[in-house]
Amino acid sequence: MNAAAVSLLTPQQSMSSLAVNPLQHLGRKPRLLIVDDQAVNIQALYQVFAADHQVFMATSGAQALAICRDKQPDLVLLDVQMPVMDGYEVCRQIKADAQLQDLPVVFVTAHSDAEAETHGLEVGAVDFISKPFTPAVVRARVKTHLTLKLQADLLRQMAFVDGLTGVHNRRFFDERLDAEFQRARRSSGTLAVLIADVDFFKRYNDQYGHQAGDEVLRQVAQLMRSQLKRPADLISRYGGEEFACILPDTPLQGALTLAAEMEAALKAAHIAHAGSDVGPYLTLSLGVATMQPGPGRVEAELIVAADEQLYLAKSRGRGRVCGLAL
Ligand code: GH3
Ligand code: MG
Ligand code: MG
Repeated sequence: MNAAAVSLLTPQQSMSSLAVNPLQHLGRKPRLLIVDDQAVNIQALYQVFAADHQVFMATSGAQALAICRDKQPDLVLLDVQMPVMDGYEVCRQIKADAQLQDLPVVFVTAHSDAEAETHGLEVGAVDFISKPFTPAVVRARVKTHLTLKLQADLLRQMAFVDGLTGVHNRRFFDERLDAEFQRARRSSGTLAVLIADVDFFKRYNDQYGHQAGDEVLRQVAQLMRSQLKRPADLISRYGGEEFACILPDTPLQGALTLAAEMEAALKAAHIAHAGSDVGPYLTLSLGVATMQPGPGRVEAELIVAADEQLYLAKSRGRGRVCGLAL
C-alpha cells in the first residue's frame, strides 16, 4: 500500500481503531476478492462472505490482478490451480507490485500437501485453506487476517500523518517531493511548491492560549486542504505553524491562484486575532515557487525559493502571496 492511498482518519480515530478492532471502525464493509476458475467454487465462498463483505470475483489470474488494482480489496482468497496463470504466479505478481504488496493472500486449494503449502507461503501468502472447507473456519481465518491487515494500514498511515492536524507530516512531504521531482523531470512537467505560514501566531498563542492555537492550526490545515483541487495535490504540516503543498503539473499562475484562494478562505473564516497588525482576523502569508526540473536541478532549490517568496510576503505586509518561476 502506498500511504497516499489511505483515507485519512484523525489521529484520535486511528488510535481508537487500533486499540479496539479496526474492522468495526472501517466505516465500510471489508473488500474481499475471490479468485477461482470454477464458478461453483466462487459461489460457495461467496455465500460465506456476501452478507457482511463487499465481494469481488475473478475467474482468471489476469482478471484478479486487474481487480486488485482497480478495486483495492483488503484480502484475496486465491485458488492455486488455474489455467494460463496459476495462483502462485498471481501471488508473486501481487507481492512484486509496490501498490499491492501489502494485500494479504490466502490460498484455497484441494491439494494441501506440505510442499504446496510451503511453496505458497514462500511466494508471499499469509495462509492456506484446504478444499472442501468448513465455512466457520474460513470465516474465522479471514477475519484474523483482515484485522491484521487493517491494523497494519493504520500504523502505516500514522507514520505519515501529523498528530495535531491530521494532514500529512514532513516525512511524507519529503518522500513525495522527491518522487514528484523525478516524475516531473521524466515528463518535462512543471512542479510547484507552496509554503504557508500563519501570521503573528506567537501573539495568537500569547493572547488566546496554546490550546486555542492548536485548534487554529487544525482549522488552517482543513481550510487549506479543502482548496486543493486535484487528487495528486498534497498538503502537509511542514513545521510548527507552517504548511507546505506539492502541486504536480502546475505552472506559476495556477499555483498563485490556489495560494490566493487559500489566503481568502482563511480570511473569510473570520478567526478573530486582536493582536495581528494585518487586520482583525487571522491571516496567512504564502510563498510559491515553480520549476521544470531539468538536468542539474535539485528539489532543494524549489524549497529555498518558496521560502524566500514567503519571506517576501511577510516583509511586504503579510496576509498575501508572492511567487517565482525558476
Ligand atoms: P510571523 O507573522 O512573522 O510568522 O510571526 P509568528 O509569530 O507567526 O512567527 P514566530 O516564528 O515568531 O512564532 C511562531 C509561533 O508558532 C511560536 C510557537 O509558539 C507557535 N507554534 C508552533 N507550533 C505550534 C503548535 O503546535 N501549537 C501552537 N499552539 N503553537 C505553535
Ligand atoms: Mg513560522
Ligand atoms: Mg508565523
